[in-house]
Amino acid sequence: MTDTVTSTETTESVAEFAARARSWLADNMQPVDPDNPPFSVRAEQQSWDHAKDLQKRLYEGGFAGICFPREYGGLGLGPSYQRAFDAEARCYEMPLILNVPTFTICAATILDMGSETQKRERISAAIRGDEILVQLLSEPSGGSDLAGVITRADRRDGTWIVNGAKTWSTSAFAGDYGLLLARTDWTVPKHEGLTMFLVPLNAPGITMRRIKEVNGSEEFCEEFFDNLELGDDAVVGEVNEGWKVASRQLFHERRAVGGGSEFASGIGAENANEMPPDHIGLAEATGQGDDPRVQDLAGRALVRRAVKEQLIAHVGGAIADGSLPPNAGTLIRLFHAETTELEVDTALAIAGTAGVVDEGSPESPEFAGVMDDVGVRYLSRQTGSLGGGSSEMARNVIGERILGFPRELAADRGVPFNQVKRGNS
Ligand SMILES: Cc1cc2nc3c(=O)[nH]c(=O)nc-3n(C[C@H](O)[C@H](O)[C@H](O)COP(=O)(O)OP(=O)(O)OC[C@H]3O[C@@H](n4cnc5c(N)ncnc54)[C@H](O)[C@@H]3O)c2cc1C
Repeated sequence: MTDTVTSTETTESVAEFAARARSWLADNMQPVDPDNPPFSVRAEQQSWDHAKDLQKRLYEGGFAGICFPREYGGLGLGPSYQRAFDAEARCYEMPLILNVPTFTICAATILDMGSETQKRERISAAIRGDEILVQLLSEPSGGSDLAGVITRADRRDGTWIVNGAKTWSTSAFAGDYGLLLARTDWTVPKHEGLTMFLVPLNAPGITMRRIKEVNGSEEFCEEFFDNLELGDDAVVGEVNEGWKVASRQLFHERRAVGGGSEFASGIGAENANEMPPDHIGLAEATGQGDDPRVQDLAGRALVRRAVKEQLIAHVGGAIADGSLPPNAGTLIRLFHAETTELEVDTALAIAGTAGVVDEGSPESPEFAGVMDDVGVRYLSRQTGSLGGGSSEMARNVIGERILGFPRELAADRGVPFNQVKRGNS
């Protein structure tokens, strides 16, 4: 990444921009302790309303959409300006939950592939803090084979009629528009008959339900489409070229998850699950601080965390200088998922049965502030190995597209989709 300014309209240096941000943040945003930030509960509407309010404040102050072009409501500045702003904003409350998927995935994809109107309307509404964008890709029949979606959009009397279902849509209950992948031609191989649509989530024909997860959260949603009517203006990119758009979306998702998107604003954990467990604190609270076996467990987790940080820096740099292909972001994504599992497993192994008590309850006051919901976090330990594609699919990408191994057998390759065997057919 360079320090160049993509807009031709600014003469402000990065240092001047950072100084102006520092002063504005002090006057307008709530200071927080970056090591102990206030977390957002993504399953609650009020978290999203609050994030929109913070985003509006940033917009009014002239610090929103730093890397988005000016014509779509942004500042048209380069990544070095965003990084400088992030460093200044580290000690202030920021609308971090808007980063994924609104800015880093959906707005970034619309910027690359959307129509001029979609860019002008949707990106600027998100930057103003008026709208939240979500992804409608996975289906009840499976998410790994994304090109195999069976939600259909049929042409009828000059409009598109959508029928089908989507699932696992992160925070869709709070969303305003969703990027929806549907099949528009069943007579061609699966990748060739898809179209991406930008869908208003309050449109008639959409029924949305929230999904209750095993950890009690209700952030995910499922949507059912019954004769949802869309115009041509909802098409993102070209009709039957939806795979190009979806691929771009997945590219942005991998960058976002790996922490390499210039469209993310603000740094730090947005919720408690993103904070690494305190293995040493857990060992001490459970009276095992001097146990060599426990020290060994904690040490392994800490080393893995350090390696992860270095891998992010190394792979990020290698992608930027072209020595690794953009798909190499998958390495970070896979290592991140594996590290999270190791860290959470280690926390539960150290906490033992204490990991399932309520933190700081009258029966266990000694655990107040240290138990960190170890047991509940264990229930969602595999989140990172599914979101944005499973770890098995990540291994396929690494094998086939980075290491150049032969592609795995696909019985449906080149076969018209309506002739592909599905389920019991
Ligand atoms: C935190 C989180 C956020 C998410 N957010 C969204 C969202 O906003 N929008 C959205 O549309 N979806 C979202 N998803 C869904 C996610 O994209 C899917 O869970 C994921 O793509 C896997 O699909 P699936 O769960 O249907 O599993 P399936 O595709 O049914 O796969 C089941 C198992 O089979 C394995 N498998 C499948 N195919 C292969 C293969 N070819 N080779 C090897 N192994 C294979 C998989 O790895 C997996 O272990 C989210 C999921 C999570 C956990």
